[in-house]
Amino acid sequence: MNDKPIPASAAPGTVTGNRGLTVEEPLIFEQGSAEGSGVDLPEPFDVPDRLGSFARKGPIGLPGLSEPQVVRHYTRLSQKNYSIDAGFYPLGSCTMKYNPRLNEKVARTPGLADLHPLQPVSTVQGALGVINTLAGWLMELTGMAGVAMSPAAGAHGELCGVMSIRAAQEAKGDARKIILVPESAHGTNPATAALCGYSVVAIPAGPDGRVDIEALKAKLGPEVAGVMLTNPNTCGLFERDVREIADLVHAAGAYFYMDGANFNAIIGRVKIADLGVDAMHINLHKTFSTPHGGGGPGAGPTVLSEALAKFAPLPFVRKTEAGFTLVETPAEAGPDAAPFGRMKGFHGQFGVMIRALAYAMALGKDGLRQASGDAVLNANYLLARLKDTLTAPFEGPCMHEALFDDGFLKDTGVTTLDFAKALIDEGFHPMTMYFPLVVHGALLMEPTETESKQTLDVFIDAVTALVAKAKAGDSDFFHAAPRLTPRRRLDETLAARKPVLRWTV
Ligand SMILES: *Cc1c(COP(=O)(O)O)cnc(C)c1O
Repeated sequence: MNDKPIPASAAPGTVTGNRGLTVEEPLIFEQGSAEGSGVDLPEPFDVPDRLGSFARKGPIGLPGLSEPQVVRHYTRLSQKNYSIDAGFYPLGSCTMKYNPRLNEKVARTPGLADLHPLQPVSTVQGALGVINTLAGWLMELTGMAGVAMSPAAGAHGELCGVMSIRAAQEAKGDARKIILVPESAHGTNPATAALCGYSVVAIPAGPDGRVDIEALKAKLGPEVAGVMLTNPNTCGLFERDVREIADLVHAAGAYFYMDGANFNAIIGRVKIADLGVDAMHINLHKTFSTPHGGGGPGAGPTVLSEALAKFAPLPFVRKTEAGFTLVETPAEAGPDAAPFGRMKGFHGQFGVMIRALAYAMALGKDGLRQASGDAVLNANYLLARLKDTLTAPFEGPCMHEALFDDGFLKDTGVTTLDFAKALIDEGFHPMTMYFPLVVHGALLMEPTETESKQTLDVFIDAVTALVAKAKAGDSDFFHAAPRLTPRRRLDETLAARKPVLRWTV
């Protein structure tokens, strides 16, 4: 079936280029032909002359394949995709936790799955009820005054929060120019601030991996619109001074944005409103177990304080005596509201909201609290068992993810990248590498609460054995990794700088 030459990069040492039952997979455009087809189409009707000018002049370059060829192509591609359903995926900061099948079942309920966003409101009362109920859960879990449900991802939620901050300051006639972002923040934080037109000023981390309060004080001033703090931060540490930070920020006339993508570490244990937060996004696709990765849909509802709630974007759901209504215009929002605009054409990622609500209701408030406890316990198990094998840059326990640096690789000729590639050969998705930037050669592992001790032990044994190999001087082994994947090492810089996104015929 595959009559194209096999790329040298595959180099599997077999005559076919296939590896075991893993078939080398050319692009579908390379497999298809202009004559191929999966269906027998009827002869065309007589086309009147006057339509002849619309007739296609030549082939349009779609691949022609039989039905089994198409099925095999996509099935094989899906098998090359590593996923949380396939194995352990300790990618730090990304919260790759198991996606319960119950969520999927509920989201496929025909009355929910087959809706159209332009249906009359009277016919989608149940759906609006789902959005409203989830909004209620998020406000209850955070203690916040309002929530914007429409942001479609974490970064989109940040945009929503920072746009609310800007609207609030403009309403006071006090537009400011700077957003402060600690070095231990997620990369989307400075990106969001810059996208909103603010200058970003970095706050260094102290030796304990947390915000340096004195440095923060020095940078706060009348031009500062807000501070964006990731908490727990990207070192997997809780910012102990969060309350003091919030007070300092407010005293300077600025607003406090807390990046809540790591809410899974504290859900059910910390009332966000008590921390003095003005805006925080929640990644439903992390904390609330909905599938993500590979560009699939997420959702980043943003909870807002009393001070910011009235600036929440349109549209939103309102509960009335007569049922749910949709607030679509500033006039409908009423005199007390001042929506800054819209984040999306419609109401957000509804399918993700259904899954998140199913998860929340299945676990209940006590179950969500247990989930954060187990996530932190699992991360600390990794930290405790690996801290003498790898090197841990900070003292003490962590939150939901364990951070290591590359000190253990000193003088071995092996880098963090080599080490991660060797882990792939052992059947594990690597941890996050070289992030956060505050430690050298970072390895950030987030096991999540859904992994068993048995899985963690197998992983720990693999890491320990690889470290022994690196220390024994076998750097060639690492430089050759990964040896068992369909491709070896890709030129990631070239792929990022000059992506080939279009097949030209
Ligand atoms: C994942 C993450 C984000 C961004 O969320 P997306 O849904 O990927 O846009 C922001 N901050 C932190 C700390 C994160 O882990």
